[in-house]
Amino acid sequence: MLTIGGLTPFTTIDYPGKLAAVVFCQGCPWRCSYCHNQHLLTVDRQAGIAWQEVMQLLEQRRGLLDAVVFSGGEPTLQPGLPLALDAVRRLGFLTGLHTAGPFPERLAACLPQLDWVGMDLKAPFDCYDALTGVTGSGQAAARSAELVRTSGVAHQFRTTVDAFVRAEDRLAILQQTVAGWGGQLVLQELRITAAPAA
Ligand code: SF4
Repeated sequence: MLTIGGLTPFTTIDYPGKLAAVVFCQGCPWRCSYCHNQHLLTVDRQAGIAWQEVMQLLEQRRGLLDAVVFSGGEPTLQPGLPLALDAVRRLGFLTGLHTAGPFPERLAACLPQLDWVGMDLKAPFDCYDALTGVTGSGQAAARSAELVRTSGVAHQFRTTVDAFVRAEDRLAILQQTVAGWGGQLVLQELRITAAPAA
């Protein structure tokens, strides 16, 4: 169902206020200079963990964990994500998603199955291409952010504070943008821990 590059069976920091497992999905279409999960970026790497193993672990954790977060890489790259979300919800878990928003249509298909979204905003949208190396990434992210903030799903916009976003008032612009949406941008320091390599 999913190509999975890593799994964290227990975390308190990846879904606000909840005990969660994190499934690290393989593949991302962008190439941010500071990416801390380089081993997750290629799509064609063989899965490190079978989806069935994840489901078995979750069966054992029913009643012990609140939520399952799909992270990456970029989870919305994978067509099987809506089915995976459905399967996790059927086990009784809340569902969370970490996304940077490169695929707005796929994100829209997942939103009805999500209880919480943490969306990474990397810079003002007109600066994205320079950071991600992909033309049009800013438009995709802007569309995804609009979908998230109008979805009714609990969410958080976050930014990794690297040298690029610190430059040229980009961070202040981003904070003003999110404030204009009625939210508050959550700042994350350049990471610290990476996804476990499977
Ligand atoms: S969007 Fe995230 S996973 Fe993809 S390259 Fe950028 S930091 Fe890495």
